[in-house]
Amino acid sequence: MINLIITVDYELPADGRGDVRRHILQPASDLLTVCNRHGARLTILAEVGEFMAMERDGNQGFRNALDYDPVALAKHQWIEAVRQGHDVQLHLHPQWIHAQWNGRHWDLDYAHYQLMDFDQNQAVEILRQAKGYLEESIAPATSRYECIGFRAGHWNTHPPDRYLAALLAAGLQSDTSVFKGGYANTSMVTFDYREAYSHYRAWRADRRDINRRSAGRGILEVPIAAVPATLWGMLSFKRVWSALSYLQEDRLNRQKIQERRNPAPNGVKTNRLKKWFQTVPKKLDFCKLTVREMRAITRRIIQDHAGDGEEPVPLVMIGHSKQAGAARALEKYIDLVKHEFAGAIRFGTYSEFIRTYEQFEVHSAHYTR
Ligand SMILES: [Zn+2]
Repeated sequence: MINLIITVDYELPADGRGDVRRHILQPASDLLTVCNRHGARLTILAEVGEFMAMERDGNQGFRNALDYDPVALAKHQWIEAVRQGHDVQLHLHPQWIHAQWNGRHWDLDYAHYQLMDFDQNQAVEILRQAKGYLEESIAPATSRYECIGFRAGHWNTHPPDRYLAALLAAGLQSDTSVFKGGYANTSMVTFDYREAYSHYRAWRADRRDINRRSAGRGILEVPIAAVPATLWGMLSFKRVWSALSYLQEDRLNRQKIQERRNPAPNGVKTNRLKKWFQTVPKKLDFCKLTVREMRAITRRIIQDHAGDGEEPVPLVMIGHSKQAGAARALEKYIDLVKHEFAGAIRFGTYSEFIRTYEQFEVHSAHYTR
């Protein structure tokens, strides 16, 4: 059986504009309703930096300008989700760590857009605080809760040796940022997942190289499922529509980041036409793909997996609360799984998968001894 882990990045648009009810609370509530209706499980990847910023003393103006308490409502939603059998794990966009509300909008700290823009001790402390924030918000109201998993903002895990060491030092056990084939080297984003061990299987990451499998007890990488495609082959009305809605956000971000950071290292410049036929990873994303595309990726991974041994296999799906229509798209995919892939895929949470994988490791060590 393949363990479908439906994750959603729970956050405001990246420049801090937007509305907590419209971009986070309501869509997350719709996703939970859909999952409850079908017996599926949702794993919320809560971007904790923004909620910590909203609670800081100097930023009280943000809360005072609203007729509701965004932090209280978010925490209530996390608790209810965990009580219903869903999961909440950690996501972080570091530009929120020193964010300030100026009375009209958020001034984000673009000098720290990547976690590793902080020095090592600071990065560990930030992760510890963020993990503690989730645990203090959720654990007292539920029987058993632990924050063990992390997804880096904008998938920025560079440099991997420092990144993995920071996760371990902060007490995190697992990461879900990698998607095989992913590569970026700009002022905004730096990662290189072209040599990742698998496009869907989990692995214990080598301490120096997040892409490599090791026999050690390092961070368990649970990658976002992705298959190679060409941009040409990825053209769909849905994708163009969603790309347009993100374009403005990205452009604003890039401007702000370039103002605040040193000039970017030069990325690989490619000929525009050639770019359309190069291979790029297509993530299993319920917000960006059509049902047909999601079916094709799922089928392909089920075929790849056939004949594999006892090792628990994840199928990590991604989506974003801020994207319109997310719940409807997810429901279509869940329907598909129930009707076409019922014998091959089961629903589960991120935490359940980590526990299952650890049990498997203990057992296989026992039998191979
Ligand atoms: Zn995010």
